[in-house]
Amino acid sequence: MNDDKCIFCRIVKGLENANIIFQDEQATAFWDINPIAPVHILIVPNKHIESINSLQEEDTLLIGNLFLIAKRIASDLKIDEKGYRLVINTGPDGGQTIYHIHLHLIGGRKFFPVFK
Ligand code: 5GP
Ligand code: ZN
Repeated sequence: MNDDKCIFCRIVKGLENANIIFQDEQATAFWDINPIAPVHILIVPNKHIESINSLQEEDTLLIGNLFLIAKRIASDLKIDEKGYRLVINTGPDGGQTIYHIHLHLIGGRKFFPVFK
């Protein structure tokens, strides 16, 4: 998959429509097209990285920064105190469908402690 074909690269570059709520030089955050909760946002590195399996040491700060962005958005949307879930799916068994790393920020309803 090259950057021209990757839907999230296209969103990052403004070539595809998305409801973007945050963007800087490193990352972009936008609303999920098929939300599973009142808040469902995807936070992606602007750089195309297929999955956690292809992470390199040099990507450490880039990935860590996704969590800081999630924290800020959660606070802005006032779900920080009640809580939320942050998920990165990896590979077929992990339920990954888009092969450009994305951190799901999911909240606005209660999730239970076990994974189902
Ligand atoms: P994954 O299953 O790879 O962890 O998550 C992919 C997510 O991307 C899904 O929640 C899906 O709804 C979302 N998604 C897929 N295509 C698009 C799109 O074109 N725009 C937006 N905003 N979200 C998308
Ligand atoms: Zn991409």
